[in-house]
Amino acid sequence: MHKRYVDNNLRAATEICEAKGCNFTQKRQRVLKTLLEAERPLSAYEITDNYNAVTEPTISAVSVYRILEFLESIKLAYRLRSASKYIACKNITKYQGSDMSFFLICRNCQCVNEIEVSSKIVTSLAELINKSGFFSSSSQVEINSLCADCKATHYDPLKE
Ligand SMILES: [Zn+2]
Repeated sequence: MHKRYVDNNLRAATEICEAKGCNFTQKRQRVLKTLLEAERPLSAYEITDNYNAVTEPTISAVSVYRILEFLESIKLAYRLRSASKYIACKNITKYQGSDMSFFLICRNCQCVNEIEVSSKIVTSLAELINKSGFFSSSSQVEINSLCADCKATHYDPLKE
């Protein structure tokens, strides 16, 4: 099941790159594959390690950073600013490349869920931002939250 998820998303990413006229090199594909295979956000160094554990020739962290920049630029991956880690777009097969992405980040276990937000909400958010004299550019919203599992174990960060 997970392998099919990775394969389908990689195929979709290939089509997106073709449509955009970007060169989806083997290294770029493998970095995205590493991110898709991970079940949690990874730092650039973790990506490099995971990549090098299964792939010859190996890759340097510098190259990984460059590739991540590319993947971010076309919204196939995101850098979570609060965690300084990277995550693949959750559903590349339904790729929209929208201007706003929303992530729920569990403050206890750091698991991440990318949520789909209706265009209506995105539009009214953009209006609110403009009203306050700011202009929303491409952005992502990270919501500090508690996942269902951690909630179920009654984890309370205030009691730590
Ligand atoms: Zn959690």
